[in-house]
Order: sequence, then C-alpha cells, then structure tokens
Amino acid sequence: MATDVFELAKKHFFRYAEPLNLEKRYPGMDIHEHLTTPDRSIGFRLTVQRDDGTLQVCQAFRVQFNDDRGPYKGGVRFHPQVDLGETKALAFWMYLKTAVADIPFGGAKGGVQVDYQSLSLAEKERLTKRYTLVLGNDIGPEKDIPAPDVNKGELEIAWMLDTWRMNMGSYQRGVVTGKPVSLGGSKGRREATGRGVFYTIVEALKDLGRSLDDCTIAVQGFGNVGANAAALLHAVGAKIVAVSDERRAYYNKKGLPILDLLAQSPGGKLPETFANAEAIDRDTLLTLDVDVLVPAALENAITEKNAPSIKAKLIAEGANGPTTPGAVEILADRDILVIPDILCNAGGVTVSYFEWVQNRQEFYWTLHEVNEKLKAVMVTAYHTVSELAHREDITLREAAYRIAIERVAEAAARRGVQ
Ligand code: NAD
Repeated sequence: MATDVFELAKKHFFRYAEPLNLEKRYPGMDIHEHLTTPDRSIGFRLTVQRDDGTLQVCQAFRVQFNDDRGPYKGGVRFHPQVDLGETKALAFWMYLKTAVADIPFGGAKGGVQVDYQSLSLAEKERLTKRYTLVLGNDIGPEKDIPAPDVNKGELEIAWMLDTWRMNMGSYQRGVVTGKPVSLGGSKGRREATGRGVFYTIVEALKDLGRSLDDCTIAVQGFGNVGANAAALLHAVGAKIVAVSDERRAYYNKKGLPILDLLAQSPGGKLPETFANAEAIDRDTLLTLDVDVLVPAALENAITEKNAPSIKAKLIAEGANGPTTPGAVEILADRDILVIPDILCNAGGVTVSYFEWVQNRQEFYWTLHEVNEKLKAVMVTAYHTVSELAHREDITLREAAYRIAIERVAEAAARRGVQ
C-alpha cells in the first residue's frame, strides 16, 4: 500500500466529519486533530535469526491510535507491503470500527514488513516471539490487545501469549485474542469475521429486496475472511461462482463446490488445478457479472480503473480498505450499495471482545451463545447505519463514519480537557 494511504484515510474522515460540526460543538478541544493523530506510533528494528544462522533485519510497527472508548485493540499483519503509513491507516480504521460495532475498545494495528510465507516454521516462531518480546509492556489486557490479521492466525497468537506470559510473569490470557480454544480462545472466533460479513450481506440484501438463494457471488481472497464468508453463504444456498487468491482464480457459472475447494485450500491457498471450475485471471473476478462482490484480500482492490466496470449490485468489504477513495465516489455515483469495511468486517473484533470478556471471567460460552451475540451486534450495527443512511440520503459508508466519529468525539469530550 502506498505510504500516503493514511493521508487519504484522513481526507475521507474530514469529508465525513464536516457535517457534524465537531469544532463548534466541542470548542477548544482541537477535536479534528485529536481524532486524526495517533496516540503513539512505535517503530522498531526486528532482527530474526534464519535457520542457516544468518540474521535478517525487518521493520516492525505498532500504532496505538485512539483509546477514548477503551483499551487499544487491533491485529498484527506480517506482509512485505507493511509500512508505517499502512499501519497507521489500519489502526485509524480500527478505532472507527470498534465504535461502529459499539464495543468498548479503541483502535491499534501492528505489522512486520516481511515475506512471511517464505519463512520456515521455526523462523516464523522466532519472528513472532521477538516481535512480542520487544513490545513487552506496551501491550497488555488493560492496555493494547493484539489479534490476527493477514498471514497471522491462531498459531502466531498462541506464540504471542506464550512470550508475553514468560516475559511479564503473569498468565493473563486477555493480552491477545484469536487464541486457540485450548489456550482460552473463544469458540467461533476463527469464523467470526466471515460470519459478520455474512450477517451484513443478509441484511443489505433485504434492503435491496433480494435474498441469498437467488444471488450469485464472487469472493476475492480465500483466507480466513473470504473462505469463511463463502462457506456460510454457500450453506444457505447462495451460488459462489468465483473465488481467488493471490495467484489464481476459479470460476463456474453454475456455482463452485465450496466445501471441496475449502478442503483443498489450506492456509488460504487455492489448489493449482481444480477440476470443477475454469481458471480465470485473478483480477477479472472483480468485474464478473454477479449480484454480490466480496473483496476479502488486501487494500486497493477496487480502484478508479475497475470501478466503472463492476457489475455487482452489492459490495461487502470483508477486507480493510479494499476500495480507493476515487472508486468510492464512482460506486456511489453508480448507485452500487457498499457495506463499508468498518461495518462489514467488524465481526472479528466483536468476537475478540467476547473472547476478552470470557478471559476476564474465566467462564466460557457455547458456540451458539457466541454466534447469537455476534449476530445481535452485527444486525444492530447494520440497521443503525442503514437507518441513518436512509434518513439523511447518504451512503452506508458516510453513515458509518458519522456514527463512529460522534461516539468517539463524545467519549473524548467526556474525559475532560485538563
Ligand atoms: P488471510 O491471510 O487469511 O487471507 C488473505 C487471502 O487473500 C489469501 O487467500 C491470499 O492469497 C489472498 N490474496 C492476497 N492478495 C490477493 C489478490 N491480489 N487477489 C486475490 N487474493 C489475494 O487474511 P485474512 O485474515 O482473511 O484478511 C483478509 C482481509 O480482511 C485483510 O484486509 C484484513 O485486514 C481483513 N480483516 C481480517 C480480519 C480477521 O479476523 N482475520 C478481521 C477484520 C478484517
């Protein structure tokens, strides 16, 4: 992602915040600056020993953006494109997301610039553990709670818990979320982001007078978010006609056998060949003639270039920042309904919150309880946003931003000015 992504994210913010008149309503607080300046940006050199004994130096980050509504919360990403600008933008969106979902957290994000997939298992463990060791007391269950993101799942989260516990000398499971259930993770966390995407699609289709069993869907990215969303959509009768990963895409106009594909796609990697589908160009997927498009890979998938050719009537942003600001305008002009990332993919952080609650009380919920509570949060968040959008004749994105900004500004003001 280009380093100016955070500047673009701020521009969006100012445009959406303008009608709220925050500077007048909260005088003397420099409220816009407050809401667009990270509380802390931590950048550090991370040195990892490779299996051949040589050292590799990587850049690592943790941005703690805003904690007005609760402790910092956000994932950690291991990817070659990670930089400070990207991490700031992701942390910024994170605090807006926790506010839209109305869960009592702020926002943070972390990352390491590394070709993680090329590392051996032992190298991955050393990298993850060293990252956690360096952050040390900067994270903690009452302070800043990391979680999974791209290239980071239960395995890495368990390593983070182990390191923090040894380093700090106290067993507090709530320091990270997205843990394996055997280490105090929540049932349902693994599928939670995809499940949240699914719930928002169901509600948005109702707004469009459509239902899932007569929809065709394309899903970009077949990792945690994309594959789980695809499986749930498929289970209720929707036709998933195309899926992609970073190297390939498969298409079948009659619908892909998603469970077979899932079984053959460990770690979000689609198989090299797949008998029941046609191989298509990875980026063609975005402009296929489908009812619903789910970008669930990385940022900037939908751009000014391909937005005019998108045929989907509904876009559900499973990924963070998949649509560039220019493309946002084009899609709005074309009356394509977009469920924005800070609403659509909030299911992950919501169940992370449930996991943190369960860890604090050391009393664990059934999968049914978790899913019902998640559904209640996502459906309420969707309708709060959608009702404002209808009332004010604005997009879902604009409405979600207004709601989030209002909530955080109010909390910031209530904390006093001294
Ligand atoms: P993941 O690493 O599990 O999966 C990413 C998938 O995207 C992989 O299949 C990868 O091959 C594919 N991909 C990468 N580049 C691609 C491209 N150009 N075209 C098509 N596919 C491509 O990651 P994830 O956890 O599923 O995260 C995906 C997105 O969702 C990210 O934007 C992440 O920030 C966001 N997100 C994740 C969570 C979570 O709980 N994991 C929560 C909220 C948001």
